[in-house]
Amino acid sequence: MTETRLRFPPSPTGYLHIGGARTALYNWLYAKKNNGKLILRIEDTDADRSTKESIQGILDGLDWLGIDYDEGPFFQTDFHDDHVTSAQKLLDNGSAYKCFCTKEVLDAKREAAQAAKQQRGYDRTCRHLSPEEIAEKEAANIPYVLRFKVPERTGTLGYDDKILGRIESNYSELDDFVIVRSNGKPLYLLCNVVDDIRDRISHIIRGQDHMTNTIKQILLYEALDAPQPVFAHMPLTLDTKKAKISKRSHGEIVAIQFYRDNGFIPWAFNNFLALLGWSAGNDQEFFTKEELIEAFSLERINKSSAIFNYRKNDPKFFTDPKAIYINEHYLRTMDIGALAVMVKRELVAENIWDPRYDEDKKEWYLSTLALIRDRFHTLKDFASLGRAYFAEDFTVEPKPLKKNVLKFEGLKEWLPELANRYEALESFNLEETERVARELATELEIKPGIIINGMRTVVTGQLAGPSMFDILMAIGRERVILRLRNIDNLFA
Ligand code: GLU
Repeated sequence: MTETRLRFPPSPTGYLHIGGARTALYNWLYAKKNNGKLILRIEDTDADRSTKESIQGILDGLDWLGIDYDEGPFFQTDFHDDHVTSAQKLLDNGSAYKCFCTKEVLDAKREAAQAAKQQRGYDRTCRHLSPEEIAEKEAANIPYVLRFKVPERTGTLGYDDKILGRIESNYSELDDFVIVRSNGKPLYLLCNVVDDIRDRISHIIRGQDHMTNTIKQILLYEALDAPQPVFAHMPLTLDTKKAKISKRSHGEIVAIQFYRDNGFIPWAFNNFLALLGWSAGNDQEFFTKEELIEAFSLERINKSSAIFNYRKNDPKFFTDPKAIYINEHYLRTMDIGALAVMVKRELVAENIWDPRYDEDKKEWYLSTLALIRDRFHTLKDFASLGRAYFAEDFTVEPKPLKKNVLKFEGLKEWLPELANRYEALESFNLEETERVARELATELEIKPGIIINGMRTVVTGQLAGPSMFDILMAIGRERVILRLRNIDNLFA
């Protein structure tokens, strides 16, 4: 049996974006599911548009997502000789010919063909040159390109696309396409096939934007005497206005790095990408890595475009709400030890990491994460919304400040009084802290909510969160007392 071999061949002309990452993921899933191999090939032949930063961005993006490859990264430019040799082979075996027509002549031919409603734009003049005519033109140093000789056949040429079904073209519509430019450079279309043949690629899963190449490439496989791989063309990823997503028109929001830098969990993002144009055929939304590999199939990739549902001006939904929703799910349910490692990076970056969280305060660290994660959306939230658990320099949000503190001048006396009572407690535990807070409210003849909400704001800076007395246990007596006594600062 032949080996299942897939490839991800990005052109390094921009950062890895959602569409590219999804292609990489689907190839990776298919390879994993079929005990195959994934090859990473950087298609850097377009020297003007390829950049080192893009290559690095692609490698970093794949690394962050955890999409690993079995071979590569290879660089297309390293295989220039292969491309030239294959072009020569096509010339030698009669599958290609030298075309000496100038641009002006070609333009005129195309116009004439259009006027006569002919499907082919080039009338194959040079295909019929005699060896003497060719020798003469070469002697006169007339530049030439290499054109592929589309076989003289009637009927159709086609392939069975794993996603789209049978795709066919009429031979009569196929132009003798250029495979090598007049400067001797093989065209991308050819390089791509030569590399796939050399890398023994068995399955090509790529975007539908490459379909215009596929029919021509099938002819190249045949002429190079190589077995044709299986093709699967994925629908493109579009925005809500049905425009193709691109870094140029959508900015950072479509770059994978954005998600890394904004606190997304790598597997959660893969889960989101997987559902962007594929489903298991039921309503399952969350998949472990193993489940996704098991469930994945090309046949279940949607035939219609995937929509990246991003609402530009809604800060709450700074990206597709589904991406956030899936991230929340993992953040709130994943193994706490694994979460702890991810949150550590955030706290370190914010300079609020305490090495004791890995040592004697580890238990505190883990239980605090378990307590606070329920309302968080991204890893960033631990150092922002959850900052009060780890540092003193947390922000008190304007809304609770106004609603729960500034409205009640009395809190300036009440909360320090509560602090005194907390200080005097023999045991600072859940029951006692609650009892003392309620007792104080009764004595003052105010609603307990005034004390509790005021305390929440002063202690965490937030409007909402876990149960107040759980919070007190997490923050600890010493810090709670300090914050309650400092309430004056909030009125300043
Ligand atoms: N280099 C192409 C791209 O980045 C991929 C071509 C292919 O998959 O055959 O779009």
